[in-house]
Amino acid sequence: MTVGRGVTKRPGMTDASNSLLQASRSAVLPTYARADVTIVRGEGCRVWDDESRSYLDFGGGIAVVGLGHRHPAVTEAAHAQLDRLWHASNLYWTEPMLRLAGLLSERIGGAQAFFCNSGAEANEAALKVARKATGRSRIVALEGGFHGRTLGALSATGQPAKWEGFGPLLPGVSFARPNDVESLEAAVSPGGELAAIIVEPVLGEGGVLPLEEGFARAAAEIAREVGALLLVDEVQSGLGRTGTFFAYEQLGIEPDLVTLAKGLANGLPIGALLAREGVAGAIGPGDHGSTFGGNPVACAAACAVVEAIDEALLENVAARGDQLAHGLVELPGVREVRGRGLLLAALLDRDAGGVVDECRAHGLLVLTAGTDVLRLLPPLVITEAEADEALAILSEVLR
Ligand SMILES: *Cc1c(COP(=O)(O)O)cnc(C)c1O
Repeated sequence: MTVGRGVTKRPGMTDASNSLLQASRSAVLPTYARADVTIVRGEGCRVWDDESRSYLDFGGGIAVVGLGHRHPAVTEAAHAQLDRLWHASNLYWTEPMLRLAGLLSERIGGAQAFFCNSGAEANEAALKVARKATGRSRIVALEGGFHGRTLGALSATGQPAKWEGFGPLLPGVSFARPNDVESLEAAVSPGGELAAIIVEPVLGEGGVLPLEEGFARAAAEIAREVGALLLVDEVQSGLGRTGTFFAYEQLGIEPDLVTLAKGLANGLPIGALLAREGVAGAIGPGDHGSTFGGNPVACAAACAVVEAIDEALLENVAARGDQLAHGLVELPGVREVRGRGLLLAALLDRDAGGVVDECRAHGLLVLTAGTDVLRLLPPLVITEAEADEALAILSEVLR
């Protein structure tokens, strides 16, 4: 069946079922300003909509599909686990959860894992562990930082527009300016003892702003001096996205708590808190939990993801990141390029939202991170040709 623009419609999708789905849009709580596109299939770095148009996916499902859509090893691991066991609960051990805990602990050099289902949940767990381990409640976070939409994580999110209508938030959270050590010292100092300093190695939602090594080291030092924990939110920056397994590895720091989610299972929902020995000792049975946490299928997929993040992949991240950064600065309307690896942004001389829409019309999915910040989060497996293809489309759109 052929529809507008001469493209072939997906077999099996009738006009009637299509319009039923259109009508159901009003049955969805409008928490997102969705584009008028329905994605039905993905393969590698591309996705297809319900009218068979293809898009080069430089949003990666918001930093989730790190290995590309339907990555063979991850798909196979999930399929095999679906055929064995979907769920058993945390009253028992399951093999994929144990394997994943072992793999992540090894990558961080010794830690205990708590598994949940999202980045916000991982940060909630981290905030609770920080309170229990220190016996303190105050938190210092960064202006512009993002840690999730649940009430605790939202309270540590340094974007006041996201708080509107949801207060009162957690008391005792102070904010410091990123890469400003004086501001950090000021935020740490007022009365009451500090449980944790929470930072993203690269502020993702807050405009793709990398932390400077000097600032990160100062944060680690201040935390140690005042007896607080250093909590590094690697939900967006982790799993190879910046060219190392964890982005903090490039900052010369050793966090006490690390959170992961987005790319961990390449698209299945999962979050993880990694707590270094010593910190983890504060937590015992009954202190925290999650019914779905450690789901066998999500953990089996995550094991395949972690195993796929090897030197060759990290080298590709660095090479493609350089290629894109160099290409982007040459484009008209680009004032600055920043980020690390394949967590990249171009600061534009115009509204980024309009550019996102035009890119989509040209077959390229990209994101924003603020009004004039265009954000690129392609799969880590993109080829040189795919990066060139994206740059060509951007060049056409920004012309
Ligand atoms: C996306 C994100 C979160 C929240 O993750 P959800 O899975 O949406 O809850 C937390 N921290 C950072 C740095 C993120 O980018």
